Amino acid sequence: MTLSDIQTTASRMVAQLTSIVTSPESNFSALSLLSAFCVAAAFLCIRRGRKRPIRLAALVRALVPKRWLSSPSVRADIGLLLFNTFIGGALLGWAILSADAVNAAADRMLDAVSGKAPLLEVPRGVFVAIVTVAVYLGYELGYYIDHWLKHRIPFLWQFHRVHHSAEELTPFTNARMHPVGAVIFANITGPCVGLFGSLASHVFAAPGAPVPVGGINAIMIAALFLILHLHHSHVWIPFTGTLGKLVLSPAHHQLHHSTDPRHFNRNLGATLAVFDWLAGTLLVPDRKRERLRFGAGPYGYDPHSVTGMLVMPFVEAAAELKSAGAPVETLTAP
Ligand SMILES: [Zn+2]
Ligand SMILES: [Zn+2]
Repeated sequence: MTLSDIQTTASRMVAQLTSIVTSPESNFSALSLLSAFCVAAAFLCIRRGRKRPIRLAALVRALVPKRWLSSPSVRADIGLLLFNTFIGGALLGWAILSADAVNAAADRMLDAVSGKAPLLEVPRGVFVAIVTVAVYLGYELGYYIDHWLKHRIPFLWQFHRVHHSAEELTPFTNARMHPVGAVIFANITGPCVGLFGSLASHVFAAPGAPVPVGGINAIMIAALFLILHLHHSHVWIPFTGTLGKLVLSPAHHQLHHSTDPRHFNRNLGATLAVFDWLAGTLLVPDRKRERLRFGAGPYGYDPHSVTGMLVMPFVEAAAELKSAGAPVETLTAP
């Protein structure tokens, strides 16, 4: 490798790191993290009431606790984010079906079945709104299916368990995903988004250029800026009553990460609670904060090490396959 190759690789890595922080499409843009901080700060201030004003330094300490600096769980979150950005994504990108590719294939299929003419012509603004909602619903359905499978199939759980091994929840826990889990996720959500986008544009139409389904989605961006980062946090913001049956709050997702068996396999959606509600997996949080512990132990290894996060899931998944194929006598033997 020449010096110029090293310089090119280094500048590409710096550009990728910069884009994580600055790109509006990034799940970890500085602006979206700052927005989440402001939402959490506003919530804490409102809950505290007007009588006892809270200082900014105390707010920062409450929302970004010092223990995060020395936490192996938090370091592992950031390590896996960087791994998935620089290595996992490049290695496995080829294996991912894009929403746009599925959308084009679904378009051709629906053209053949129902013809090219849409059923209803609507103004362009209405059409953009319909496609935005359809894509959001497709993403949420795909997210729910992927998450349900990973909790119900022991082989897949071993890869998803990496996400649940976080003992501290920070916004970066969202990126704590084994590359195999990330590929499965993309290959389930991509087709759902593509299919829903295609259905919407076969029922409705508007003048002007087609609306792409795989780009930035206004509803998902709003969710990211308002509540999604706080799903992985210790800030108890509960949506209760009817709202709690429609939208998954940070407290819903914190229950999902709880080590209490009463909370296992609940609240599997991203931000929409409706699929959990329909499937009977919804658990609406109490208004009062529940004391929860997070994690997915016990382990026979360090779940925050490189081996524990990247290699051991393959070993454990292979053991699951082996035990699934083993004769019943072997499974029940002491
Ligand atoms: Zn889960
Ligand atoms: Zn999570």
